[in-house]
Amino acid sequence: MVRYKVMLVFGTRPEAIKMFPVYDALKSLPQIETKVCVSAQHRALLDQVLDLAGVVPDFDLDIMAPDQTLDTLTARLILALGAVFDAERPDRVLVHGDTKTAMMAALAAYYRRIPVGHVEAGLRSGDIYNPWPEEVNRRIIACAANLHFAPTAGAAAALEAEHTQGRIIVTGNTVVDALLATQVRLREQPFLAGSIAPVLRRFAGRRIVIVTSHRRENLGQGLSNIAAAIRTLAQRDDVAIIWPVHPNPQVRATLEPALSGLENVALIEPLDYPGFVGLLDAASLVLTDSGGIQEEAPSFGKPVLVMRETTERPEGIEAGTARLIGTVPDRIVAEVARLLDDPQAYAAMAHAHSPFGDGQAAARIAAVLAEEAAARWVVPSLANLQSVSHAPSAP
Ligand code: UDP
Repeated sequence: MVRYKVMLVFGTRPEAIKMFPVYDALKSLPQIETKVCVSAQHRALLDQVLDLAGVVPDFDLDIMAPDQTLDTLTARLILALGAVFDAERPDRVLVHGDTKTAMMAALAAYYRRIPVGHVEAGLRSGDIYNPWPEEVNRRIIACAANLHFAPTAGAAAALEAEHTQGRIIVTGNTVVDALLATQVRLREQPFLAGSIAPVLRRFAGRRIVIVTSHRRENLGQGLSNIAAAIRTLAQRDDVAIIWPVHPNPQVRATLEPALSGLENVALIEPLDYPGFVGLLDAASLVLTDSGGIQEEAPSFGKPVLVMRETTERPEGIEAGTARLIGTVPDRIVAEVARLLDDPQAYAAMAHAHSPFGDGQAAARIAAVLAEEAAARWVVPSLANLQSVSHAPSAP
């Protein structure tokens, strides 16, 4: 039997985290041959997730270069991905979200008329410069794809409003699948979160606030503001602030001078995924500009303060699991203090229902692709039957 060949393409940590449940779900289907191509747009952080998920890519473009600009990355990606698609001729390409890798994979596939499926489709901020360039990346992918796996009804509605061509399916967000599966693994194998043991010991008895920030829009002034707010919050002796710092040198250059040496602030290396999931479980609240963390934290009942001006995940704000607070230091300090000091305000956010999914998103995506694989299998056999029935009878 010729199997239906699906190629997953991704290049960064968040894409890998959100695609590994899809990979696992597809791998369990005998009628589908699953291939993985990574661009390694972010080498080290991507490799952490591949190791955890036990994924050995079939193609590793190792595209990251020291002189990388959006132009050079775009050019390298389309050439390299096109060559992989020419060699492999997948029946379908699956991309995730809004990275440069996802956009160029969608375009390279489209140029070859290979159908594209878009996981986490339909997120929109409505502002093409915020987040930049992701808002345009995902809109381009929507034009090239014909299967749109929308994480929420709101994302599906955004695609419908744009008269997007193709089929739109609401699946939930695959990050919830990844999070819940990792939580189960941690219960069975707690040592997997060993990377956080020293910092949790150091801050035993304090309420933990996780901070992450590395989005382009916050580099420079935004990050300096956030660091100033953290210095003020660090004056409280009931809290500990743990910040896994992104390797981006610009991020480190701002944070290290501003926050090193504070007794209850730990700037730590990026955590492997189980470590981060363990930390989230132990934390009281999260201050972040990350997209994925906005989606994960509510599944664990952790309030999220989003340090951005806009979010393409309004469902969290509407459900009450997140608040959009920007990056003005006084506002950040006031919002954190409110959650720490007002149990009712905290409970209202912690107990709000997560709108991002039930952990079955990957199964729903795999079911659609299984249907497609089955249709492929049935259509040629029907065609054969028809040609038999129309064949002239033997003399
Ligand atoms: N994450 C991680 N280790 C860390 C910080 C975050 O594994 O030290 C995970 C987090 O759980 C989430 C993802 O990385 O799933 C978020 O990545 P990022 O903030 O880089 O990207 P975004 O979600 O904004 O696209």
